Amino acid sequence: MTTVIERDRLFVGGAWRRPASDGRIEVRSPHDRRLVATVPAATPADADAAVAAAKEALAGGDWAASTGKERAELIRRVSAGLQARAAELAGLITDEMGSPAKFSLFGQAVSPAIVLDGFADVAERFPFEQERPGVLGPCLVQKVPVGVSVGIVPWNVPVFISCMKLGAALAAGAPIILKPAPEAPASAFLLADVLAEAGLPPGVVSILPGGADLGRYLVAHPGVDKVSFTGSTAAGRTVGATCGELMKRCTLELGGKSAGVILDDADLAAVVPQLVDAGVQNNGQVCAAQSRILAPASRYDEVVDALADHLRTLAVGDPRDPGTDIGPLVSARQRDRVEGYIADGRDSARLVVGGGRPAGLDGGFYVEPTLFADVDNASRIAREEIFGPVLTVIRYRDDDEAVALANDSDYGLSGSVWTSDPARGVAVASRIRTGTCTVNSGVIVEPRNPFGGFRQSGVGREMGPEGVEAYTETRTVVLPPA
Ligand code: NAD
Repeated sequence: MTTVIERDRLFVGGAWRRPASDGRIEVRSPHDRRLVATVPAATPADADAAVAAAKEALAGGDWAASTGKERAELIRRVSAGLQARAAELAGLITDEMGSPAKFSLFGQAVSPAIVLDGFADVAERFPFEQERPGVLGPCLVQKVPVGVSVGIVPWNVPVFISCMKLGAALAAGAPIILKPAPEAPASAFLLADVLAEAGLPPGVVSILPGGADLGRYLVAHPGVDKVSFTGSTAAGRTVGATCGELMKRCTLELGGKSAGVILDDADLAAVVPQLVDAGVQNNGQVCAAQSRILAPASRYDEVVDALADHLRTLAVGDPRDPGTDIGPLVSARQRDRVEGYIADGRDSARLVVGGGRPAGLDGGFYVEPTLFADVDNASRIAREEIFGPVLTVIRYRDDDEAVALANDSDYGLSGSVWTSDPARGVAVASRIRTGTCTVNSGVIVEPRNPFGGFRQSGVGREMGPEGVEAYTETRTVVLPPA
């Protein structure tokens, strides 16, 4: 029997405050529906308080006067605090959204600290002020904080995505209000505990769990200058429209339908376990999942057989069990969505593995790891983000067609190329129009370098210096003529 986490305060402007209303969010395990946590649901009044505190932090005092180096130290303290509690954080995320323990420790709990350390490095070196020549004489080009920022976070990798936004904002000197999703808000409270211990100046960070209504309120809030949104393309479109209307700065990290391209010289025994992991890790609920596998016609059956054999070995079950590869989907709604795509796939392609619900796991939102072959790149299961453990295999004739198919997608977030010839792999990867493309690696998000999407996968980049730049405005001070 695990203890239910109960929180009664909200982290507003760096302090634990009583919430403005008594609304609560209940978090239940997607494995067996047991109660995991209850936390306050933030409301517009809490958002107003967070925005006011953030504005005050920008107006003067320690935060407004801080240097990149000082902020780097603060980011490193937050990173160290998270590392110290990584096992606890991993367990909590496994409980609240079903990420298998095997994935959680690194993918959910250690990786946020890696991201934060990357931002600390950037903050130390970032050119916040540069002297440049001008027409009449020298100018100072300054990168100043963008203002009050809001980070809207989905449930799939909640603390990792929070830290992609938090680390960049802190590095740039911009206060941030994070809005975790109602499906996975409990881990955000652990992050808030760590932030409180790290000794943030007042006003700099608020964490307000709530649903789409609170998200919309924050995006449209007149005191908010920048929004960084991660989630579905549908919601991202409305966030982007509001930001356009109100002329707010905006970064959108949306869905994906990334291609894993197996070249005809690939060593399948080495490739298949990594590529399957890159497709179904976190139960397939990853925006950069390699869910569209492109296989050469000359080795098509061999590829399908190898993928099928590997998928059949995956252990499905309680995500807390260290042997589990695939846990439950986050919610009944998400399982309905995934099952809808599987039904569609049964009509448009050849079902090779899975397609149903695993036996003996009726208490949770499980679907079997599923493989479709003979998939047409024009079909729904090849074009839309399924966000579940469902892989599709598409046939191609030569490298040119592989590149054309990889690029024939409304999305453009990630991708991978698998080959025995690294130079050929880099040449193919360099023709794929996505924000990230790896060669012979299933690490689908590079946490120290720009991450984001072409086309409908989003606008702008997170991480690296580009990620910090997105939380700044640029000012040119023209120095007086000599
Ligand atoms: P979603 O886009 O609806 O929600 C993501 C976050 O945005 C949550 O915090 C939510 O409360 C907030 N939100 C939703 N609508 C908003 C709006 N109009 N304004 C401001 N904030 C808003 O995603 P979902 O419903 O949780 O999942 C649906 C699908 O989205 C999934 O099946 C998957 O395909 C995709 N998804 C993608 C990612 C990703 O990382 N790219 C993450 C989660 C979900």
